[in-house]
Amino acid sequence: MEEYGHFIGGKHVAGKSGRDQDVMQPMDGTVRAKVALASAAEMRAAVENAKAAQPAWAATNPQRRVRVLMKFLELVHKEYDALAELLAREHGKTVPDAKGDIQRGLEVVEVCIGAPHMMKGEFTEGAGPGIDVYSMRQPLGVVAGITPFNFPAMIPLWKIAPAIACGNAFILKPSERDPGVPMRIAELFLEAGLPAGILNVVNGDKEAVDAILDDPDIKAVGFVGSTPIAQYIYSRATATGKRAQCFGGAKNHLIIMPDADMDQTVDALIGAGYGSAGERCMAVSVAVPVGKETADRLVEKLIPRVESLKVGPSTDGSADFGPLVTAQALERVKGYVDLGVEEGAKLLVDGRNFKMQGYEDGYYMGGCLFDNVTRDMRIYKEEIFGPVLSVVRAETYEEALALPNDHEYGNGVAIFTRDGDAARDFAARVNVGMVGVNVPIPVPIAYYTFGGWKGSAFGDLNQHGPDAFRFYTKTKTVTSRWPSGVKDGAEFVIPTMK
Ligand code: NAD
Repeated sequence: MEEYGHFIGGKHVAGKSGRDQDVMQPMDGTVRAKVALASAAEMRAAVENAKAAQPAWAATNPQRRVRVLMKFLELVHKEYDALAELLAREHGKTVPDAKGDIQRGLEVVEVCIGAPHMMKGEFTEGAGPGIDVYSMRQPLGVVAGITPFNFPAMIPLWKIAPAIACGNAFILKPSERDPGVPMRIAELFLEAGLPAGILNVVNGDKEAVDAILDDPDIKAVGFVGSTPIAQYIYSRATATGKRAQCFGGAKNHLIIMPDADMDQTVDALIGAGYGSAGERCMAVSVAVPVGKETADRLVEKLIPRVESLKVGPSTDGSADFGPLVTAQALERVKGYVDLGVEEGAKLLVDGRNFKMQGYEDGYYMGGCLFDNVTRDMRIYKEEIFGPVLSVVRAETYEEALALPNDHEYGNGVAIFTRDGDAARDFAARVNVGMVGVNVPIPVPIAYYTFGGWKGSAFGDLNQHGPDAFRFYTKTKTVTSRWPSGVKDGAEFVIPTMK
């Protein structure tokens, strides 16, 4: 059986803590591999390695650094299919969806090839007599990323690519549920020419994470995962003076105006609500039709579509979605459906008893659809992270707008309408970080930034796009005067531009 240790200093290193965990194959409930859970001492060894390697990497000119990214892209393309299959087997999503996971990561790598441009500073000639001012962006040193199970290629790449392109050394602590793809990514970067020690993967759980948070040599931490852990990591990392950006959970609404194209809307809800079994931070989990007539039309069209969703093993490319990630996740999601029924929501499609023939030990459930969900219910307030869509009926546009605005989370939101005025008003007034207009999953393209608001993100800078280069560099500003400048003797007053 495969044993994942750690990838430190360009080498595979066996775990020494004596602790490990099973990596499951959700489609049939078998154990695929074991993953080592690092001790604080093992994390420290990775940090020392990274710290020793980083100055030479930072001194490598930026164009040479990004050539490694170009070569990495080439290597990934050569084994795209195998990587997607590994991802699908460990995560549970289908192979075509796993390819999308890799692709969205690669798009950020592509944009990071522009790092030499993004890192350029500014220059002002003659800011005073004989005085020039310029700024430069320098890497932070050793930085770390802690990533979730649901995008094991995309999210590590969103962090690794800008961090190393800017001249940092990176330590990745991937999810212990699907570490195979992150380990392979590290091998491929080494093969692409990245010096040993610049990208290290340390597997583990809370002990490894706490070792990152307390290590004085780690200068920045990027986290993606659930909100309680995001809050914990943000507060502990910033308390020790680190730069931190921590992205959390979500409850994404899709507002349906009476004039929306209903077929297009239903397609959008089916894909965004149930794709990847709803295990996406940008999944739509709440549909908000405006007006009774819109709601009735929507529900009538949704029911047969949810009933006919094709659930299948991850290797079945024709399935709409695969199993959930773990047996615990399956129980938790089914528990939320039970709760919704108890709370008085109307369960129109019940996928709780779905069994996948031939894969009885896999973590499957069918799609579920609730109507008449209200804002006081826990199934509305909490993130379910499964193939469950809730319809919350609103009488007016203002009532619909108030739902995402008042919700604890603020990751993504969408409006479906043909009315430009309504769409424009919505985009301006909605209190959410990423907005779609007739687009159900508005994950911004790689050269814009990705980030939610409110309980969905802690920290000031978003992921990818221009913010990534800001997050992984610090700005230094130099004010210089040469002897040919005016000599004005000792100055005891603060210099000004007066
Ligand atoms: P999670 O919070 O359980 O785990 C994320 C990471 O934190 C993992 O690496 C895990 O090992 C570590 N971790 C878990 N418990 C910890 C603890 N007590 N102390 C320290 N570290 C700990 O999240 P998950 O289940 O892997 O991922 C799903 C969650 O991620 C969902 O809430 C989803 O919405 C969210 N997510 C958010 C975004 C975003 O950009 N906002 C993107 C993807 C996923």
